[in-house]
Amino acid sequence: MKTKENIKTKKEALTAQKNMAYLGLFNSIDHNKEGIIQPYQFWNELKSHGILVDDPRLKDINDNFKKEKLKNRKGITFELFSKCIDQSILLTKSLKGELVIPDFKSFTDEITTIYNKLEKNLSGSVANYIPQLARVNPDQFAVSICTIDGQRFDYGDFNTDFCLQSTCKPINYCIAHESLGESVVHKHIGREPSGRSFNEMALNNDGLPHNPLINSGAIMCSSLIERHAPISDRFDLVMKTWSELSGGFNPSFNNSVYLSEKQTADRNFALAYFMREKNAFPENTNLIETLEFYFQCCSIEVKSPSMASAAATLANGGVNPLTGKNVFNSSTVKNCLSLMNSCGMYDFSGEYAFKIGFPAKSGVSGAMMIVIPNVMGICVWSPNLDELGNSVRGVEFSKMFGERFNFHNYDSLINSNDKLDPRKSKYENKIDGVISLIYAASLGDIDEIKKLEARGIDLNSADYDGRTALHLAASEGHKEVVEYLINRNTTANLKDRWGGSPIEDAKRSNHRNIVKILEEYLSNQFKSENK
Ligand code: GLN
Repeated sequence: MKTKENIKTKKEALTAQKNMAYLGLFNSIDHNKEGIIQPYQFWNELKSHGILVDDPRLKDINDNFKKEKLKNRKGITFELFSKCIDQSILLTKSLKGELVIPDFKSFTDEITTIYNKLEKNLSGSVANYIPQLARVNPDQFAVSICTIDGQRFDYGDFNTDFCLQSTCKPINYCIAHESLGESVVHKHIGREPSGRSFNEMALNNDGLPHNPLINSGAIMCSSLIERHAPISDRFDLVMKTWSELSGGFNPSFNNSVYLSEKQTADRNFALAYFMREKNAFPENTNLIETLEFYFQCCSIEVKSPSMASAAATLANGGVNPLTGKNVFNSSTVKNCLSLMNSCGMYDFSGEYAFKIGFPAKSGVSGAMMIVIPNVMGICVWSPNLDELGNSVRGVEFSKMFGERFNFHNYDSLINSNDKLDPRKSKYENKIDGVISLIYAASLGDIDEIKKLEARGIDLNSADYDGRTALHLAASEGHKEVVEYLINRNTTANLKDRWGGSPIEDAKRSNHRNIVKILEEYLSNQFKSENK
């Protein structure tokens, strides 16, 4: 019956339930059980989930804490804590480990390990076509990560500015695509990898640049961005876009890089004239202005956290995870990522797509933007380049990252346990393998058992109830599996949580042949142990 009383008690019950849950979260931060937590404890806890104190989504809460601390000098009471949690779904999700990378700490430990290994790699050399790049300290190395839930991690030289160089190309493509659409943009630019170096004097059979991610294509994109607006407004649009992509952090501009670029641009001028000769540009394109605009875009500077946030915006279908701002349409992003996947790494693109298998874009400043769609964006910055113009450590990072985590475009086909899936919670990767093994044993699927073994799953693994593959195979009467398992020297007398062993399972289910096999195996084992 829907009496007033009933509704009231139901409401009270729900509130009590919520309070219990909040109290659990509060207690997990209040380690000293003081009934009060300090803002730094709160932020440290969030940091372990990748949510940082300068997160624009938590600005109000941060301000509130500061005010409250000034007022009562004590810290965050349970009451204030509950009020904040009520305001922010992000807080609840982070504290409960429900963000896209639930075990962020283990994930970032893996990243740190990769970083530390790569730090020793000093091969390659900095770009030297302009003095401003030639003078950069080659040992610098930054890795930044931003997930689609805005979990962030920065390591190394993440406070140093570097210029975008070719990493401006995918973004300029998106800007042009956003206002003109796919068909207009691709009337002027192809979408095939060129297989040549980034500034090669080559156009496709239609006399157009092969794609927007090499110099000719990027010059073409520059001519398409807001082409009727004054050049200053066009540059402002690019800067504003980078600021939105960065989650509100403003990019800067390196004027000396720009001046140097302009002075050493014979090849880019030649490419532009070549394209003009082929009528590739829209009518009335001012070539010099277009080139200068392109050099200016290459000379924009950011830090690695900003570039990771930009990559995360692409990973998130065009919406910046930190601000919720919809920077690009998802159809624009889809096209951009397709191109980054096939053409983002100059003439290493095919190899990168084959071996590593996620979209990326490099630049001669040593910057690299990596996108793991629906998961995260990564920036690696390390100035030493290989012969193709890609950052040595950037490429190596991609390889090691791709070997550790299952983010190759087609890893989903392989169902492999060799690679980690950081989208899973702490023990899920391991548990999945064990459950598959036990399930395969219960069905008598010996091929699957062999595959799981090859992937490193211990054949003696037990589930929560202590049941092993041998228990299940014995109980279900799968002789072949039992034989296979004992041939692999599994332990035959492991007990489940009710104290039962595989042989008892076989007896109970009346599988006499299996009882015999196991008896023999156990007695042989006994003999050899007591020799
Ligand atoms: N400014 C460089 C150029 O146009 C950018 C090239 C690059 O990063 N590969 O030559």
